[in-house]
Amino acid sequence: MSGQKVVIFDTTLRDGEQSPGASLSISEKLEIAQQLAALGVDIIEAGFPVSSPAQFEATRLIAEQVPGPTIAGLARASTGDIDSAGKALAPAAKKRIHTFIATSPVHMQYKLKKKPDQVLEMAVKAVKHAVSLVIEAGATTLNIPDTVGYIMPYEYGQIIAKLKSDVPGIENCIISTHCHNDLGMAVANSLAGVRNGARQIECAVNGLGERAGNAALEEVVMGIHTRPDFFSSYSESGVELNINTKELFRTSQLVSQLTGFLIQPNKAIVGANAFAHEAGIHVDGILKERSTYEIMTPETIGLSGSRMVLGRHTGRHGFADRCKQLGFKLDEQETEHAYERFLEIADKKKEVFDEDIAAIINEEIHVVEHTYDLQYLHVASGTGTLPTASVKIVFEDKVHQAAACGDGPVDAAYEAIREATGLSPKLENYSIRAVTGGKEALGEATVRIADDGKKFVGRGISTDIIEASAKAYVDAINRMVAARNTKSETDVKATL
Ligand code: MN
Repeated sequence: MSGQKVVIFDTTLRDGEQSPGASLSISEKLEIAQQLAALGVDIIEAGFPVSSPAQFEATRLIAEQVPGPTIAGLARASTGDIDSAGKALAPAAKKRIHTFIATSPVHMQYKLKKKPDQVLEMAVKAVKHAVSLVIEAGATTLNIPDTVGYIMPYEYGQIIAKLKSDVPGIENCIISTHCHNDLGMAVANSLAGVRNGARQIECAVNGLGERAGNAALEEVVMGIHTRPDFFSSYSESGVELNINTKELFRTSQLVSQLTGFLIQPNKAIVGANAFAHEAGIHVDGILKERSTYEIMTPETIGLSGSRMVLGRHTGRHGFADRCKQLGFKLDEQETEHAYERFLEIADKKKEVFDEDIAAIINEEIHVVEHTYDLQYLHVASGTGTLPTASVKIVFEDKVHQAAACGDGPVDAAYEAIREATGLSPKLENYSIRAVTGGKEALGEATVRIADDGKKFVGRGISTDIIEASAKAYVDAINRMVAARNTKSETDVKATL
């Protein structure tokens, strides 16, 4: 069977990066783009080149260094924007300019208090008009965005169906969806679009995006992958995707790590509990026949079924082998660093799980040049004592010491770090999670700091959560200092 292809257009790096607080460095964007290529997305929207020099450079680097997918750049419908996008995309083998205009009549008509069917009719009329014009002008993919996340699946499906049936020349174009999640409908709307003939979905990993975000890539993909029957009943030959679903989990983890946006445990597909069947009747059913309650297997999204455990006696070779099996491509030096860190952790924690290895590698690889190194940390806290911390931080070839008290041990440690470095970025967000279950679990701290309107995410792992927290803060400070040396302006945001 060869079905109609549904094109996956990933906008994690453009719309997703517009999420408040998610700011990625150019090298982090490049790393995500490489993972998106491994996942098999058809199109990567790399940025909005005209909006800032950093956006231009990120788009150009991805165009130059990520083979496979088509690389797209966003541009408003003006020659300046389009020229800039064209220049940034020049090195790509396959490139696309994504341009947009507001079909403002739709906006205005929604504000008039009409009955839903009247509104739908007016919306269809306005979109049809705009669509006929752009088809005449030679557009090949037509995106029908619901930028404000207002529409319901039935309505959205109707709009796509009417465009398919009524607009001359539409049979030569691909209709694309771009749905926002303000009412939690982004995935449902996108799939209603596909059911009615749309053949491209714009989406973002983990549903990132402005406000409540975009349609989640992993959900639209698994929706189509799990229910091909539903889409087949509309188009005789069914629909097909290019995606290697086994890369979904890794992609989701990487994006979460780099943006500092944690994934809620009950998140569909990639949440920690997404495959945890606990209710007795379910467990009984699964033991008898897996497909009774498990509509997808964890292996499909790349969660390994086996729970291979490594320990302090694991050799360099065995460790490198496991990393490879988990899909990490490390060079010799990176493997060596990761192995040293692994041994430190295996010393404190008898069993090292796959998730721990992923956390170690993410910590070791995503390093910026260390201006500040945390050399020593001592914290005293307890009932009836004032939490105090002392630190030694090395920079400019000297050891700088400081001590401070705080509301709690982490607060005291952060105050001491601020004193020692002489820097006091605003702490916007702090979170800690256990990488695996059990009392010996590795703690991973994630912090977001703000400096002059720019945000930086830092991470640290340790079996000691106070140490993990201190490392995360110093990591964020190192990223902030590294970025100060590369001048960049605040990006203009697109309203799409
Ligand atoms: Mn958008």
